Amino acid sequence: MGKFAIHPVLQEIAGIFIRHGKQVFLVGGAVRDLIRGRRAQDWDLATDALPEEVIALFPRVIPTGIKHGTVTVRFKGRSLEVTTYRTESGYHDGRRPDQVTYTERIEEDLSRRDFTMNAIALPLPRGPMVDPFNGVGDIKKNLIRAVGNPQERFAEDGLRPLRAVRFAAQMGFDVEEATLAAIPSALGTTEKVSPERIRDELDKILASPQPSRAFLLMEWTGLLELLLPELSRCRNIEQKGFHRFDVLDHSLLACDAAAREEAPHLVRLAALLHDIGKPLSRARDDAGIWTFYQHEQVSANLSRELLTRLRYPNGIIQTVVHLIREHMFHYESNWSEGAVRRFIIRVGEEHLEHLYRLRRADAYGTAGQVPPPDFLLPLTRRVDAVLAKNQALSLKDLAVSGKDLIALGIQPGPPMGRILTALLEAVVEDPDLNHKETLLVIAGNLQEQYS
Ligand code: ATP
Ligand code: MG
Repeated sequence: MGKFAIHPVLQEIAGIFIRHGKQVFLVGGAVRDLIRGRRAQDWDLATDALPEEVIALFPRVIPTGIKHGTVTVRFKGRSLEVTTYRTESGYHDGRRPDQVTYTERIEEDLSRRDFTMNAIALPLPRGPMVDPFNGVGDIKKNLIRAVGNPQERFAEDGLRPLRAVRFAAQMGFDVEEATLAAIPSALGTTEKVSPERIRDELDKILASPQPSRAFLLMEWTGLLELLLPELSRCRNIEQKGFHRFDVLDHSLLACDAAAREEAPHLVRLAALLHDIGKPLSRARDDAGIWTFYQHEQVSANLSRELLTRLRYPNGIIQTVVHLIREHMFHYESNWSEGAVRRFIIRVGEEHLEHLYRLRRADAYGTAGQVPPPDFLLPLTRRVDAVLAKNQALSLKDLAVSGKDLIALGIQPGPPMGRILTALLEAVVEDPDLNHKETLLVIAGNLQEQYS
């Protein structure tokens, strides 16, 4: 056809298959991308060659999923997933097929795939596309449609409903009516999917242009209540004051507004979850107005549970929970320099930029419009001024060390820790105190108090 520009490296790989009498097709996301006029991201190939044959064809092959007929070929700095044509059967746990059977026809392989747009094969090095389910037509209509009977396909693999809404957010597509309608009755199968696979989809949703598209589809189909019930309970939690939206819409707007980041999507995760404690901390004050005292603490605790349940790595959990806990800071122009220093210490210098971004996203989600560009400037200016002075902000910046205190006769252990912390507090309040002689005098006085 010559219609698509096939990368020379891909041509070269195809040549190796063809010379050995094997068929090879580009499949999956790469074909989707080409049809949509985008450059293909990663390459998935399908072939009639058995995994052992593929291993024999290339010098560097990793048997990544050999039980399911998939190997990874490393070639000229690239990694390609190569899968032998196969059919699947007996999805007893709603996760992985019990049985994989190789087949000789690409059409059969395509029929096990999830959506019509993902069931198109482009023969290499050239030839007419194989598109038995009119995936090209659905791509033109921006539609995500299950291959065959959606109910049956979702019952085979409970991840598919989540993949559908994830693709909707990634590509800005709609989920076709019958496909969408089949999701609620598949929730029991989705419930059995491993948390890691759910998390990977959530990460892809967060990396998409408009995550709310997926989350609203999840709400509509019951996926949200199943997988992120803390968020689903934020629906119809009304707020007053400056807020225009209920807590769920506010959270989704904030998540969309947070700039897309490289993984991990710390700010988007924090924006999505920053208010999930509100339904639990809501109370009316004497005037009958809703209040949400301490909701940042409740949100932080619930987020820790949620992210742990989804098997997020500890480092990510800690940062996201920290950002959520700190998201309610209220800067006032009468803050002393000490107050600015304490703010920096509490947030941590490395998290300042993330927290500013979270606050901007939060403001967007409150008003439904972009906050003015100088919205945080009064605070950031003062923070930057303090940082430029290189004053002591942590124990290692103190002009005395534990050794100096030992020389004073203070024993290492909790009392010394308390003294060092007290010295830091004094220095944060008044940086001029950060001289060895001065601090030793203060330490001497504290020694009596603390021992
Ligand atoms: P992306 O790489 O952007 O996530 P993709 O379509 O390439 O999109 P992969 O997960 O890489 O998705 O899978 C490659 C192909 O394998 C898909 O296009 C689809 O044909 C098939 N596939 C993947 N997961 C499933 C599944 N759970 N059920 C059925 N087919 C699937
Ligand atoms: Mg892919």
